Amino acid sequence: MRCIKCRQPAAVEVRRHHSAFCPEHFIEFFDNQVRRAVHDEKMFSPEDRILVAVSGGKDSLALWDVLLRFGYQATGLHINLGIPGYSDLSQEKTEAFARDRGAELIIVDLEADYGVTVEDFKRGSERTPCSACGLSKRYIFNKVALEQGFDVVATGHNLDDEAATLLGNLIHWQDGYLIRQGPVLPAGYPNLVKKVKPLYRLAEREIAAYAVLRGIDYVLDECPNAVGARSLLYKEALNLIEQHSPGAKQNLYLGFLQKGRKLISAAEERPQLVECERCGMPTTAQVCSFCRLMERVRIRLRRSKPEPVAPPAAR
Ligand code: SF4
Ligand SMILES: [Zn+2]
Ligand SMILES: [Zn+2]
Repeated sequence: MRCIKCRQPAAVEVRRHHSAFCPEHFIEFFDNQVRRAVHDEKMFSPEDRILVAVSGGKDSLALWDVLLRFGYQATGLHINLGIPGYSDLSQEKTEAFARDRGAELIIVDLEADYGVTVEDFKRGSERTPCSACGLSKRYIFNKVALEQGFDVVATGHNLDDEAATLLGNLIHWQDGYLIRQGPVLPAGYPNLVKKVKPLYRLAEREIAAYAVLRGIDYVLDECPNAVGARSLLYKEALNLIEQHSPGAKQNLYLGFLQKGRKLISAAEERPQLVECERCGMPTTAQVCSFCRLMERVRIRLRRSKPEPVAPPAAR
């Protein structure tokens, strides 16, 4: 296999584009996909301050890396979720990346700052740990961006993530989610910061190749809570289809953005957002889901703590 640009031996094959590239031209291909995503979806401009949500995995570090190379004002935000054997290593890799590049990094520690960890969600909430974790991450990304004056929050979601989410939303006909699914979630309401996904045109294995070629040291292990997640099943199913029909994933997702979204949004009803009466963040209820989650988890944790043993009565 040879690079389609320079005929040197190819390092990465991109079957859905009927292409293969040497390292140099693969990086050029990668950059072009990101530039196109940012431009076509009007994600941000050079003047904007970008808060990059960084987990320490390949996608978010690759995103931060490419935005810094392009000269954007990109600050990282890492949330330590308190997951044993995973969170501390993720934080270390993120800090090392920031140190090497002299990039600004904000750390939020779920336990130190909110008094709970993702482990507590297992005992203190009826949501699955991933659902409670996802809700908390979205809440904290928005809160930090708002409080520190960022214009936009960028996440490392890739084509595989987006296609798997779309498949799940279609299987369950989640029309509310389908309307909102896309590479840009506009600010739209007070206290809601714009969210963007600049890697949505790139497949997971292309991002892994980019991370290797750029020498990015990322956490290889998946979060232990991801085992058995539905999204992994959808990804596997899509990978199987992709093997037999290269480009299927891209057609599904980019086709949805071009055609499907229009059809669904024709019937769109924008949910009415109000301010949470406790924390002031946007919500459709009186109290936002995050404040309700925190309350439930704290109450259950308090209840599950053993009663203090009474000292023996003095005779
Ligand atoms: S797999 Fe679940 S618990 Fe782990 S980081 Fe992702 S959302 Fe959170
Ligand atoms: Zn080449
Ligand atoms: Zn709230």
